[in-house]
Amino acid sequence: MTIDLSSHSVRSIREGLLSKDFSAAELADAAFARIEAVDGDVHAFNATSKELAGAAAARIDAMVAAGETLPPLAGVPTAFKDNMNLVGTKTTCSSKILENYESVYDCTAVRLMLDAGAVPVGKCNMDEFAFGSSTENSAYGPTHNPWDLERVPGGSSGGSAAAVAAGEAVLSLGSDTGGSIRQPGALTGTVAMKPTYGRVSRYGVVAFASSLDQIGPFSKTVEECAETMNVICAHDVMDATSVSRPAEDFTAKLRDGVKGLRVGVVRDLLDLEGCDPKVRERVLESVESLEALGAEVGEVNLPSTQYGLPAYYIIGPAEASSNLARFDGIRYGHRAQDPTDVLDLYMRSRAEGFGPESIRRIMLGTYALSAGYYDAYYGQAQKVRTLIIRDFERAFADFDVLVTPTSPTTAFKIGEKAADPVSMYLSDVYTIPVNLAGIPAVSVPCGTVDGLPVGLQLMGTHFSESTLLRAAHAVEAASGFVPVPPMVAAL
Ligand code: GLN
Repeated sequence: MTIDLSSHSVRSIREGLLSKDFSAAELADAAFARIEAVDGDVHAFNATSKELAGAAAARIDAMVAAGETLPPLAGVPTAFKDNMNLVGTKTTCSSKILENYESVYDCTAVRLMLDAGAVPVGKCNMDEFAFGSSTENSAYGPTHNPWDLERVPGGSSGGSAAAVAAGEAVLSLGSDTGGSIRQPGALTGTVAMKPTYGRVSRYGVVAFASSLDQIGPFSKTVEECAETMNVICAHDVMDATSVSRPAEDFTAKLRDGVKGLRVGVVRDLLDLEGCDPKVRERVLESVESLEALGAEVGEVNLPSTQYGLPAYYIIGPAEASSNLARFDGIRYGHRAQDPTDVLDLYMRSRAEGFGPESIRRIMLGTYALSAGYYDAYYGQAQKVRTLIIRDFERAFADFDVLVTPTSPTTAFKIGEKAADPVSMYLSDVYTIPVNLAGIPAVSVPCGTVDGLPVGLQLMGTHFSESTLLRAAHAVEAASGFVPVPPMVAAL
């Protein structure tokens, strides 16, 4: 039997396993067959993990045979961004410097997924160390958008997004420091959530900017996003910033509707120059549909968020330059041959191992933190961060949910922005303020422009994921838009 993963959900997999329509092993085979068929073109994966998948699927099949209660993600083929450690796989961060780095322990979020029955199909391509918005900064070549192979899937979690969009996995995890889950979600027509800072343990994800990084899911539907959130949101003693809160069922209120929900359209962000008017149109149509369903819609401004991008490009690189210091050819990573002395070893190992964007970030960050510049750059950026937090606090006094596009444009062409880092940085103008404030946000497909998907970003105050998912579910239902890339429909 051939199983088409792109037509399956967490729920349909569970039902199929229970009614013995297929086994978890057959589902895993279907994932690898799809990867075999399309990944030469898409390049969502850096590596597959057939052995791990076989063992995980066999465990689920044994549970089915024994009539045991199945865990929530039983048999679901799942992909992980290649900055998440999983024993039995390499964790390369799509960098040459970690080309041969074998995971020595499991990332907590990955472990939680596997304990919930997910079947790990492989590790996904990304921008090197998560620096980028297009997955072009991978040392292993770009990922292609399943909607149009000449276009980028967004980034930095572009591989994780493309894997779900192309039906190579049913779920995936990515990481989001300034938009790296939500922006690729928007560009590939997938549902993509960045949880509140601290909701999901960061233990075992290779750190980019520790005060901003957060792991989150990609899925085809809002319901599956909620189901994944149920699994990965848990307190972890291995991450000092992990919050301890009672477990929440994010699916419980999904269908409660949006009657009375106060939805604020962020006017100044929507009016930004550089936002494609057709993207704006799709977003406003979705807002109208929320209003038609009983939401109370108004407008709000977030004046300080215009400084989010420059503040992020100080804080992000500053933290990255410090986090990446460990990749020196001695403690971790590629080691240059025949060094003349230890300084030569450091310098050449790093110069040979890091790609251009990583070097740019390390230099930006080191400069911003250096004596004499610290107050002028890092100190100022932290003040801007506080102003942005206050903007959001004011807005959330009046609104439950704030709306912007996720990305100012649909997927751009591979190579289009590669030569101009600043134009690439602008892709994240809507997503970055969310990380600076530590709040949750979700990107939900809300339609297309010229055949390419558009994402709507819903933002809420800390720990309001349940409300965001409820609103996202209403958008999904109202748009009637089933995002299936033409290459998947043609298979
Ligand atoms: N695109 C942003 C950057 O390049 C965000 C990346 C991310 O969230 N990891 O830094």
